[in-house]
Amino acid sequence: MRILVTGGAGFIASHLCERLLEQGHEVVAVDNFITGHRRNIATLPPHPAFRFVEADVTRSLPVDGRFDRIFHMASPASPIDYVQLPFETLYCGSDATRIALDRALNDGARFFLASTSEVYGDPLVHPQVETYWGNVNPIGPRSVYDEAKRFAEALTMAYHRYRHVETRIVRIFNTYGPRMRANDGRVMPAFISQALRNEPLTVFGDGLQTRSFCYVDDNVRGLMGLMESDLQEPCNIGNPEEMTMLALAEYINRFTGNTAGIVFKPLPTDDPMQRKPVIDRARNAFGWEPQVSFETGVERTVAYFRDHPE
Ligand code: UDP
Repeated sequence: MRILVTGGAGFIASHLCERLLEQGHEVVAVDNFITGHRRNIATLPPHPAFRFVEADVTRSLPVDGRFDRIFHMASPASPIDYVQLPFETLYCGSDATRIALDRALNDGARFFLASTSEVYGDPLVHPQVETYWGNVNPIGPRSVYDEAKRFAEALTMAYHRYRHVETRIVRIFNTYGPRMRANDGRVMPAFISQALRNEPLTVFGDGLQTRSFCYVDDNVRGLMGLMESDLQEPCNIGNPEEMTMLALAEYINRFTGNTAGIVFKPLPTDDPMQRKPVIDRARNAFGWEPQVSFETGVERTVAYFRDHPE
């Protein structure tokens, strides 16, 4: 198939491009490098079926030819990025989603939206099942991301209902692995790079908030499985193994031999207190579940950050 990947130089999408090429597809990736990185595509094995186009997908998709599949992955995704890039983040969810959906309509392509567990906000239902509508602050600092993704889901459903575009929606939970930026602010790269510099790990709040971390290879296998499944409803992809940020910090310090301990910093506004996916939908529809253990995932990620100090 001929496949378009927006945000193709990003953390998850660059892994996705690599897997799609391995499966024999032709892949065109588009990115403007506001949070993606040239290095992510430069390290892709050279491949005659891969093409990269530098462009801002909130404005246009300057790519020729017809596509069979469109993965719309483009968006800042780290809390510190989207408060620094509020408008870009809003327009990735709105304008870029509309442009990519129009292209899918025009090409007769199947459209895939990378949505997020952030649509559940600070969830009052735990663990999070796809039928939960969420608890989002529509005007808080995180809203530029959360509401953009909620709008993107609504727009995707409208193109499906009224314009008959074939659509898939994934809600991605915390994902980690090689090609995250050491300084992107998210907890896994933050803790690992602090530990490798023998600095104390910065735990926000009391550290009792929870997240559930999925290794990127598992995530990408889930995205590809969903795209080729019949599942039209939104689908969680994440690892249900939940832990506190304090437990994560202690694990990373132990694993890396960092003796600098931890320091507590203020909890960011509207930071969700808990997050854990229910993954029955993915399991039942296309037999997906995570396979990489937390220990193995951390080992591979630490090895990557050792080799790529920022
Ligand atoms: N966090 C932390 N220290 C850091 C970075 C993040 O304790 O240096 C916490 C953050 O407050 C949140 C959790 O780790 O509770 C996950 O944050 P991240 O930015 O990785 O993702 P998200 O909040 O989007 O799940």
